Amino acid sequence: MGEQNLKAQGKYERIVDLARRRGFFWPSYEIYGGAGGLIDFGPLGSALKRKIEAKWRDVFVRQQGFLEIETPVVVLGRVFEASGHVEHFTDKMAECGKCKRKWRADHLIQEQAGIGGTEGLSLEELYALFQKRGIHCPECGGELGKPQYFNLMFKTSIGPYAESVDYGRPEAAQAMFTNFKRLYELGREKFPFAIAQIGHCLRNEISPRQGPIRLREFTIMEFEFFFDPEDPHCPKLKEVEGEVLRILSAAQKSQGDERPVEVTVKEALEHGLIKTEWQAYFMALSKRFVTSLGIPPEKQRFDEKLPWEKAHYSAQTYDHEVYAERWGWIEVAGHSYRTDFDLKRHAEKSGEDMRIFKPYEKPVVTKKLVLKPKKDAIGKAFKSEALNVIKLLAEASPSDVETSLQKRGCYLAGPYKILPEHVEVVRQQVKETGKRFIPHVVEPSFGADRLIYATLEYAHTEKKGRVVLKFPLDIAPIQLAVFPVVSKDGLPEKALSVYQMLSAENFTVDYDDSGSIGRRYARADEIGVPIAITIDYKTLQDNTVTVRDRDTWAQVRNTIKTLPPLLTQYFQGELKFNQLGKPV
Ligand SMILES: [Zn+2]
Repeated sequence: MGEQNLKAQGKYERIVDLARRRGFFWPSYEIYGGAGGLIDFGPLGSALKRKIEAKWRDVFVRQQGFLEIETPVVVLGRVFEASGHVEHFTDKMAECGKCKRKWRADHLIQEQAGIGGTEGLSLEELYALFQKRGIHCPECGGELGKPQYFNLMFKTSIGPYAESVDYGRPEAAQAMFTNFKRLYELGREKFPFAIAQIGHCLRNEISPRQGPIRLREFTIMEFEFFFDPEDPHCPKLKEVEGEVLRILSAAQKSQGDERPVEVTVKEALEHGLIKTEWQAYFMALSKRFVTSLGIPPEKQRFDEKLPWEKAHYSAQTYDHEVYAERWGWIEVAGHSYRTDFDLKRHAEKSGEDMRIFKPYEKPVVTKKLVLKPKKDAIGKAFKSEALNVIKLLAEASPSDVETSLQKRGCYLAGPYKILPEHVEVVRQQVKETGKRFIPHVVEPSFGADRLIYATLEYAHTEKKGRVVLKFPLDIAPIQLAVFPVVSKDGLPEKALSVYQMLSAENFTVDYDDSGSIGRRYARADEIGVPIAITIDYKTLQDNTVTVRDRDTWAQVRNTIKTLPPLLTQYFQGELKFNQLGKPV
């Protein structure tokens, strides 16, 4: 593609074009015309995805000591009845009366009238807005009907039983809740703790028209962190409390202020912008993780959802957003404070006790009031009614009885007048060794596919009219390219032996001997290979090769056999490029 064309297209078009041409991703089922909201990842795209997933797993599972599971995409209907998704997981949809196409009502209002935040409006209010603002079908200009609710879950049946209504999961979270007790035990009852999962999810989006940004099948990377709401302190907060977050709070938004404030994690907690320390801690890690993918901090923000924008289970949600040239701010992660909503609902619907027992450091001794009826005196006073009186006293509140006896000299148990000589109020010591409770949950949830797109957008740079994908070293899908400078005189054979040696050293290597050396460098830059190694005539004499840097195009020379350990250190960020050899 020439320089002229590069400038004419927006970044989104350039990335989609590159992604298709070089094998990152493309629409699924293209030979049949494609299907909206579904994409295939090619060799480079799936390699990039695995690297991003591995990095996420390293930061949020391995380094945290969390427990990772893998569970089915197909989920029993009862699970989503309990979780509230059958009732609440809906969008509002409007049908065109003329062409019968269906659209998301809030998206049409945003696109045609520039009015955002209409998620909270009722079906009638949306319909009224359609008429007031002349919202029409974007396809044929036809008139739109009254919006209806549409549940976004894919329906299915487990087994050959059409009457059984089951679902494709729209989030990976529910299996973390239904497995909560088992994982708590498998983790030797360590608390607080978290369960993590990376996996596919399905949402039957009404009219996705944003390529890889809005998919009907996508990969979620998420974990549920369980903690005691009465002991919400995060001991790791110190590690992140100076981290600056760009926050757009719901309070600000409701006053029409859309400018994020920059506050440290510590300040965000002190000002009450974030409700729990653990959520603040994970938001800081989230910022660091997204930054490590090459997305600058100033292109990130945390957008607190307004009450009507939040999911039904959430007490507070911050969307972690990244700025995309074509789409504006897009959510790449959600941080939700789900409280005890899900575990409580599953406890009610399944009958499983989801409480955990937490021993106190020291047993707590409390004094408890107890009533001791004096049976002889009651027998004398109430005769045949004595048993009734004793039963009523057993149900009475000891403190009410005590207060009444002190203030009025008697207590009325039903129709019976109880006097101080009929009952003794004593204080007993009770020893409690711990408490039983349902944990609260904060949930960080990342969209792998959107992160891939955002990573591509920020890696995408141009140098002298050519595209260079500047992936961070640790997520580049291919690490090394090996080229013979010409395809003759034994150079390809030598280059292949270098290729095999580096592959055996666990590098991801691409071998390329087609076209001019300049074109091969350009191809490697365009798919973001950080290092290119070239075998030339000198190599045949002294076993040295040239090593070229993708970002600066600088070259150094070194012997083949000293390269593997140096390159390993380079990819781990321990060496700079000019330390890989002597300048050429
Ligand atoms: Zn239409």
